[in-house]
Amino acid sequence: MPRSWKSIPFFRWSFWRMAFGVRHLREHWQVGDGREERLAAYVETHARHGDGADVIRVIDDYGYNESFLMNVGDEKGLILDAAIERAQPARVLELGTYCGYSAVRMATAAPAAQICSVEFSSANAEIARRVLTHAGVSDRVTVVVGTLGDGGATARQLEERHGFGLGSLDFVFIDHDKAAYLPDLKLILGRGWLHPGALVVADNVKFPGAPEYRAYMKQNEGTLWRTIEHETHAEYQSMFKDLVLVSELIEA
Ligand code: MG
Repeated sequence: MPRSWKSIPFFRWSFWRMAFGVRHLREHWQVGDGREERLAAYVETHARHGDGADVIRVIDDYGYNESFLMNVGDEKGLILDAAIERAQPARVLELGTYCGYSAVRMATAAPAAQICSVEFSSANAEIARRVLTHAGVSDRVTVVVGTLGDGGATARQLEERHGFGLGSLDFVFIDHDKAAYLPDLKLILGRGWLHPGALVVADNVKFPGAPEYRAYMKQNEGTLWRTIEHETHAEYQSMFKDLVLVSELIEA
């Protein structure tokens, strides 16, 4: 994997372009320069069809050498892989599909899992579906356009069409709007979808940061949750530190 000066984000125009586009990013969940659309074509051109591991490799290559991406990335991806292998999930919920990178990663690490991935942007959902189809996992990964914070419509859709119910969920990966981490986790708990022993993994807890989520996990440590904080780096660079939290539900 290419590293060297590219691991320092300040030397990369595509990183600055993303920083300048942060307003667009907050509204549309795309940087605004077409890099997500180009990623889908890049995957279709460069990755072996039906090979999830190769799709992951090609997206990492794009994130380092073409345009910086807000995927979980290769370094934090290993933490996600390990959590998936520990949980051996049958049903997974992802919040924040973006371009489908982590969904491909989870589907590859858990070949029996059914994954529902909720994405706010329908444009991103289309891109992710192309990536998932190319990886050969589209029969096991469903991208649902919506948000759990919409007053119940998306949650009901998960229950009525995708088999969500009491204790039905083994694994959650949270990687969307940082302010929604804690309210969405509480909604999931309120619906009773998780069972004791289920794992919840949260990306970007330090960068950009989800301090309320982290504080909640600290407050409930040993009673409701058992959390491991993994010190790592934000994606596709080595300057900014990040935390990935892996939390096991003790009591539903
Ligand atoms: Mg992330």
